[in-house]
Amino acid sequence: MKVLKFGGTSVGSVKSILSLKKIVETEARTQPVVVVVSALGGITDKLIATSQMALKGDDKWREEFDAMVTRHHQMIDTIITDDKKRVDLFNKVDQLFDQLKSIYYGVYLIHDLSKKTEDAIVSYGERLSSNIVATLIKGGKRMNSRDFIRTEKKNGKHRLVADLTNQLVREAFKDMPEVAVVPGFISRDKDTSETTNLGRGGSDYTAAIIAAALDAEVLEIWTDVDGFMTADPRVIKTAYTINELSYIEAMELCNFGAKVIYPPTIYPVCVKNIPIKVKNTFNPEHPGTLIKDHIENDQKPIKGISSIKGTTLITVTGLSMVGVIGVNRRIFTTLANKGISVFMVSQASSENSTSIGVRDEDANDAVEVLNDEFAKEIETGAMFPMHAESGLATIAIVGENMKHTPGIAGKLFGTLGRSGISVIACAQGASETNISFVVDGKFLRKSLNVLHDSFFLSEYKVLNLFICGVGTVGGKLIEQIRSQYETLMQRNGLKLNVVGIASSKAGVYDRDGIDLENYRELLKAPEAQGKNLRDEVIGMNIFNSVFVDCTASKDIAALYQSFLEHNISVIAANKLAASSDYANYMKLKKTARDRGVWFRYETNVGAGLPIIGTINDLRNSGDKILKIEAVLSGTLNFIFNEIAADVPFSETVRRAKEQGYSEPDPRIDLSGTDVIRKLVILTREAGYKVEQTDVEKHLFVPNEYFEGTVDDFWKKLPALDADFEARRQKLEAEGKRWRFVATMENGVTNVALREVDINHPFYRLEGSNNIVLLTTERYKEYPMLIQGYGAGASVTAAGVFANIMSIANI
Ligand code: ADP
Ligand code: ASP
Ligand code: MG
Repeated sequence: MKVLKFGGTSVGSVKSILSLKKIVETEARTQPVVVVVSALGGITDKLIATSQMALKGDDKWREEFDAMVTRHHQMIDTIITDDKKRVDLFNKVDQLFDQLKSIYYGVYLIHDLSKKTEDAIVSYGERLSSNIVATLIKGGKRMNSRDFIRTEKKNGKHRLVADLTNQLVREAFKDMPEVAVVPGFISRDKDTSETTNLGRGGSDYTAAIIAAALDAEVLEIWTDVDGFMTADPRVIKTAYTINELSYIEAMELCNFGAKVIYPPTIYPVCVKNIPIKVKNTFNPEHPGTLIKDHIENDQKPIKGISSIKGTTLITVTGLSMVGVIGVNRRIFTTLANKGISVFMVSQASSENSTSIGVRDEDANDAVEVLNDEFAKEIETGAMFPMHAESGLATIAIVGENMKHTPGIAGKLFGTLGRSGISVIACAQGASETNISFVVDGKFLRKSLNVLHDSFFLSEYKVLNLFICGVGTVGGKLIEQIRSQYETLMQRNGLKLNVVGIASSKAGVYDRDGIDLENYRELLKAPEAQGKNLRDEVIGMNIFNSVFVDCTASKDIAALYQSFLEHNISVIAANKLAASSDYANYMKLKKTARDRGVWFRYETNVGAGLPIIGTINDLRNSGDKILKIEAVLSGTLNFIFNEIAADVPFSETVRRAKEQGYSEPDPRIDLSGTDVIRKLVILTREAGYKVEQTDVEKHLFVPNEYFEGTVDDFWKKLPALDADFEARRQKLEAEGKRWRFVATMENGVTNVALREVDINHPFYRLEGSNNIVLLTTERYKEYPMLIQGYGAGASVTAAGVFANIMSIANI
């Protein structure tokens, strides 16, 4: 014999209820089945909301009521094809609705809604649905659970009377029908016979009670997901189905908020060693999850993560508590007498404070009764009044194999710390199947995500990217991410989720990922305009996040510090931060280090060439950078390679601009500013302290050309042509070429236009290429040479991409 329970979503729509019919009828061919049903999905909530309207005298309760009637009527009309059965069912259902309407009317008139009345009202959901399902299923016989599920009132709550219930269930099912259809959730008080219930989500419990009393072969919980999952799939998109769980693991997860099974459900079947299967009504072929006594060959230390929102932590503290026997007994007895459940306790070994986790809605009562209980101690100053902190969340990681695996707690807290999440309280029982901890409620989603990511890597790792700047580099980067997305997911198990894209005017943000095909359209939408970038990025508070700066903006560079402080890594194509004041550069690096995140800017020098990374690798392995000689400006190299008898200097500058090699204002290149910034960055990476003003400059364009407007500059520029041509001819005769060279020797820096002959490694530097010559203690006689494209959107974007990948591979 099997017990099958179908939740609200499984009886909520025509499609699901027809699937239910098929599942049950197939089972019933081989053995008797008991079907326990919830109310139609959402109806319990509606029943409660409508009663609140009636209570407040709001006439809208009638509309809500009518909508419930219509929903049930439409369902019956569609699924019950036999005329006679349909008419009978309509009669039954309408009778129930008549009663319900009278109750609502009473509430409306009297403005009173007692707990008793509310319990009567919510019972109608299951009473209605069970009638529908009993009529729908071939051979279905409806049984009234209020006849055999009995409760009693304890501490203001309805509690199951187990022995009596078991006995009544056995009697009721003595003559087992082919298919018994039982309304879940509802029960009757053993003393008053009033209608009661087992608590929200209680249909699971009804099913478990019946399964245990009748020694069923299995209890099946049919719901709307493929089984018990590693985490709540509504919060964690990468959660996946767990094949098998032990009762203990399932119990721990349910107790901490895994809504898929109502917590009291596990105990009765566990005692009888009856397995539970969690299955999907919408996908019956999926094997689902099997919950049983003992799981073999299961290597995973952590099986699942669950959480409870709305936690209050009450701290009972005082100097007199140290060594006093009985404080804890008094705390728990007091709370139990008030019917307040405590789901987490943490006590430091100094014994002078105990922290207790309760639900937010119980917090005021808990504080009040505890203050009463300890009134004397508080008055004498031996203890402090209770301190309550609300709006927190409790998270638990669960797995029986934790006890054989060292380092789980270390990994847990390390992961949280790296994400900037501080743990307010924590507890681990000696059974080592659960570590629970409390965080600020605003960090709940982020905590779940980082933990899921770090403990369940078997699927894939997620990196959440904010991309700022959609010009040539940003645009190319987005294109590259889009084209690599699938490959990275399959080959590297890495999901690059772009959660923010901002231009100078607009921004789009979506934690589920932005459609990279049409982000430009999204940026044009009115709702994308005028958003504050910093607030959006920090406000999203998303895990494993990286801010990618593809702009050249000073304002954006000024945001890095606060991003890093919020544990957001920064990857910059923008050179302004790394070349800013030395103190600022060091502070950014230190913040990144302290926070366990990354600040990377490989493309600041030589676009996609591996220059900064190489210098770092050399130094980290104990080498010392003695000298750097480099051509770092693609623009200037282009200009000096283009200049010829028929191409005057001013024309080369114009071409550099037209072909996109120069900065929008070419004076940034000609003044050496760009090269100086790069040289400063390389020198700092090489381990020397330097500011831009320390760099000695030997320029080739007189200073007055850098004053005034860009237009003035373009007008004046041809005046330099004749002089350049004369110098060029001399240079040509000597067999030499011009290179604008940045040099660092033992920390001393300069930039200058140099004349190099055919034997010099810089002589054959084509087009806009860059070259870097590194002389180190190890590479002394033959310096290391890095050469290649030093500018261009594609290679720069690829360099940024490589930086992103270097973060992902930590
Ligand atoms: P039913 O109406 O079938 O009783 P519930 O809404 O009570 O369904 O429970 C199923 C829901 O529980 C799922 O849709 C899912 O959103 C949520 N849920 C939360 N945690 C988990 C988890 N660890 N595994 C599966 N589902 C979970
Ligand atoms: N219908 C009840 C509720 O929504 C019981 C259940 O579905 O398990 O809480
Ligand atoms: Mg449920």
